[in-house]
Amino acid sequence: MHLLLVEDDLDLGAEIQRALQGRGFSSVWLRCARDARAHLAQAEDAAIACVLLDLGLPDGEGLDLLTELRARGSDLPVIVLTARDALHSREAGLDAGADDYLIKPVEPAELASRIRAVTRRVGGHSSQVWSVAGLQIDTGRREVQIDGDVIGLSPKEFMIVAELARHAGRVLPKHRLARSLAPLGEPLEFNALEVHVHNLRRKLGADTIRTVRGVGYVLGG
Ligand code: CA
Repeated sequence: MHLLLVEDDLDLGAEIQRALQGRGFSSVWLRCARDARAHLAQAEDAAIACVLLDLGLPDGEGLDLLTELRARGSDLPVIVLTARDALHSREAGLDAGADDYLIKPVEPAELASRIRAVTRRVGGHSSQVWSVAGLQIDTGRREVQIDGDVIGLSPKEFMIVAELARHAGRVLPKHRLARSLAPLGEPLEFNALEVHVHNLRRKLGADTIRTVRGVGYVLGG
């Protein structure tokens, strides 16, 4: 899953990005409102699944970015990052359309579970275990089961299945999938992606992931 982190504090930003990477999320880290605004304008193409948004930025308010995003009708999940004493900004964030908030400094496990929760809500999945195409995908344990048997997957293979499951029944373009698997913004090579998909078909069944020639992949369609 690929995230946008907007945070001007260099120590905190680096710490959050490290925590994300350690939990299997890739991210782009931007430090000012102007860059974040430009990036959000193409959030769909950039395959952003969730935004972590600091409110006080050197060239503007995070809240303004959030308001603009919602005014455009975007339901992109946004988690506001707020200081412990800034209760008013937390409430303002939720009023402006934030999906959740976290108090700084953030705790990695808490961060990961909040991200999973808000992205699940948007994907229409209410439980931690998704049932898609005959697979039971446990996003908390990062595990896939078929008829009760755990299938041994590499972390990258799990990320591919989870990302396809978030878009179940719809075609996920290859470039978006490759981007969402990038460790730090550098997309996975298509060749490598194809090898992973090949291995996944061997483990999960040949028909589980369908190739839509020239476009991408679809899980269970
Ligand atoms: Ca700040």
